[in-house]
Amino acid sequence: MFGRPVSLFTVFGFEIKIDISWLLLAALITWSLASGLFPEYYKDLPPSAYWWMGIAGAVGLFLSIIIHELTHSLVARRYGVTMKEITLFIFGGVAQMEEDIPHPKAEFMIAIVGPLSSCVLGLSFFLLSNLGVKSGWPVTVTGVLNYLSWLNMILAVFNLIPAFPLDGGRILRSALWKWKKDLRWSTDVAAQIGSGFGLLLTIMGIIYIVRGNFVGGLWWFLIGLFIRSAAQSSYRQILARSLFHAKKVKDLMVTNPVTVPRSISLEEFIRDYVYKYHFQAYPVLSFSRLTGCVFVKQIAAIPREEWAASTVGAVALPCNEDITIGPEEDANKALALMNRTGNSRLLVVNGEELEGIISLKDMLALLSLKMELNDLEKNK
Ligand SMILES: [Zn+2]
Repeated sequence: MFGRPVSLFTVFGFEIKIDISWLLLAALITWSLASGLFPEYYKDLPPSAYWWMGIAGAVGLFLSIIIHELTHSLVARRYGVTMKEITLFIFGGVAQMEEDIPHPKAEFMIAIVGPLSSCVLGLSFFLLSNLGVKSGWPVTVTGVLNYLSWLNMILAVFNLIPAFPLDGGRILRSALWKWKKDLRWSTDVAAQIGSGFGLLLTIMGIIYIVRGNFVGGLWWFLIGLFIRSAAQSSYRQILARSLFHAKKVKDLMVTNPVTVPRSISLEEFIRDYVYKYHFQAYPVLSFSRLTGCVFVKQIAAIPREEWAASTVGAVALPCNEDITIGPEEDANKALALMNRTGNSRLLVVNGEELEGIISLKDMLALLSLKMELNDLEKNK
């Protein structure tokens, strides 16, 4: 959401990544537990005890969400849906599993197992905290366990709300999908409910904030924003997938890309290429063979006085796999690579030969054209 996720560890072959927004969230949770919830329910403990409880509560929340997401991933794997990584976002994880869910039953099973696992966790923490109370464990421990049991129950119920991309929305989508046999229509309906629900939470958050409940209001506001944008982008993703599916990179590439000769100076490069085309990276050719890539941000680091004397060939770097793709690859793979690396233009390379360039701009233009056509059809 705010940047590239950081890898934490791998479990059952799934890479667990954390979005930077999550660290912010962890701090917010620890603080609101230590200064709000725990002192209210468990009075007269030393302040340091509340902070330890807050930290334990935040770690417990983190682990609970990982377990919830892991069960999604494990069931997805059983249905042959690849889900290599789990990224923890502001509220729970949005597991990357859009790609090719085979049938409604798979979608249903993948979705339902999350709330079920939260339910089981909630019950387990409930039993454990009861056991703790009976066995005379310190109130700091039973308090955290009690909190975690409630938290998991709330996670289960919240995720069952039929607002896509929440699990409940996925369950709804699977039912609509089974009924109408149309994944795109089902996604559209579920995503519209999700988007509306997100807006509702955002408004609720604003009302809370206006009434003086700042932290609670901020929570709902952020969660609402997150759900709304996730719902909208997931519909666009489905549309993009169905549009680019079965299309190859070579079908969408531009075959006469702008290339830079090795021998020109940096000054000429800036004047004749950068100011003219405004791209971030350019392929460098020598006798029509691709010899490297030159990036605009590289040049910015070189003192201006050296621009006249230095050539493009001297500063060009090898074109790595973040910026190149084969002509026979699936167009969706190009989109995923752009998404992951932030490079909006990829060189289509066959061995040492540059066959063309595929750009996000062209792909999006095609997508928005397709969406407009869809809307026209809808309004007929
Ligand atoms: Zn879930």
